[in-house]
Amino acid sequence: MFKKVLIANRGEIALRVHRACKELGVATVAVHSTADANALHVRLADESVCIGPPAPKDSYLNIPAIISAAEITGADAIHPGYGFLSENARFCEIVKAHNITFIGPDPTHIRTMGDKIAAKEAAGGAGIPLVPGSKGSLASYEEGRRWAEEIGFPVLVKAAAGGGGRGMKVAKTPDALQEAMSTAKAEAKAAFGDDAVYLEKYLERPRHIEIQIIADSFGNVVQLGERDCSLQRRHQKVLEEALSPALMPHERAEIGEIARSAIARLGYLGVGTIEFLYENGRFYFIEMNTRLQVEHPITEQVTRIDLVREQIRVAAGMPLSFKQEDIVFRGHSIECRINAENPKTFRPSPGEISYFHAPGGPGVRFDSAIYSGYRIPPYYDSMVGKLIVFADDREFCIRRLRRCLKEMQLTGVETTIPLFLDLLEQPDFLNGDYHIHWLEEWLAADAL
Ligand code: ADP
Repeated sequence: MFKKVLIANRGEIALRVHRACKELGVATVAVHSTADANALHVRLADESVCIGPPAPKDSYLNIPAIISAAEITGADAIHPGYGFLSENARFCEIVKAHNITFIGPDPTHIRTMGDKIAAKEAAGGAGIPLVPGSKGSLASYEEGRRWAEEIGFPVLVKAAAGGGGRGMKVAKTPDALQEAMSTAKAEAKAAFGDDAVYLEKYLERPRHIEIQIIADSFGNVVQLGERDCSLQRRHQKVLEEALSPALMPHERAEIGEIARSAIARLGYLGVGTIEFLYENGRFYFIEMNTRLQVEHPITEQVTRIDLVREQIRVAAGMPLSFKQEDIVFRGHSIECRINAENPKTFRPSPGEISYFHAPGGPGVRFDSAIYSGYRIPPYYDSMVGKLIVFADDREFCIRRLRRCLKEMQLTGVETTIPLFLDLLEQPDFLNGDYHIHWLEEWLAADAL
């Protein structure tokens, strides 16, 4: 096992990793920007190093500063959390070149999965079903049009280097395709410095279903079931549940096994998530995330597995502490991402939390790094915590979630708690009858 892990992140995920390290008997090093000097992850870590000014590019994305912090403190591993440098293959290579273990997969896997075209090829080659689409990137509008006619409109133009929903445009007609291709290319060039785009069939009302996997270096690969992350706004997940209310047990078993055997074929190490769109009983691969996900706790609750602990163990060369046949799903879990934002306009609401009281009781978990008197800095993501609730079944879970949302006291800033209280009364949500556009359609109708 490692002696000391440097956590190259902030907020709730830095704390989550710190907690797993302490329970493994491992010392922790926090790194932080000047804006985060009073943050909880800094206060709780065994050691801390300031790595730069507030702007992420100068601190949490500052590779030389992070490597120096690891060297000065003698950390033997780096955990990247999610976001920031977690899917940066170059960072991973630099960490390794300094004889420090990167807690994550091999850089070649990060690189392949970070390029959407290469990822689709790798996934398709490993037996994962794909969304029908163009083969590789498009050299011209004419080529795009030929593919679109073969696949059938509507189509989605996507950036090969895409992420965060940027560089994506829907086209319903050949004329619209020309326009969509040039806007997507310009957006992709500006956001990623790479204007390669490709085409996919546009699915009208799919669900977003993702499979959690974990692999050790002894050839054990285990799939931990799915999460339904269909409730999204601007391609950002808002509420997630495990397991999905939409899957039949045989569908769950089938897609889980497809994901598991693909990962075994790829020779992957650590945690990963294979994301699918699901429509009319069929699954279509969209991407693979080669890191821990924000929504990992709901999988932990229905499987009773500590994913971060296992992730650190396998990175240290230890075997998984369970086998596929040990995995039994139990109960239901839902996560709400509580953001410091206006619940109607979604405008960020940074500032000081004057008072905070977390909900408690059976089946309740609040992953957060806030406290009364904490000042939310304006430089980072507006998520202030994840309320994760577990119960024997979905109905009970929703009741418990309502109770917790009412119990939580968070004053001084605006939060999205009222949005969740409203969402939890919607018949479609209660019936589990929603798709990836449902939330935005509901918000738009509500605004009228
Ligand atoms: P990014 O990496 O930019 O987040 P993804 O490929 O993961 O891009 O897609 C993000 C979201 O865009 C998905 O969760 C889904 O809501 C939507 N999406 C992606 N591909 C399709 C498709 N072929 N048809 C319909 N919606 C799609």
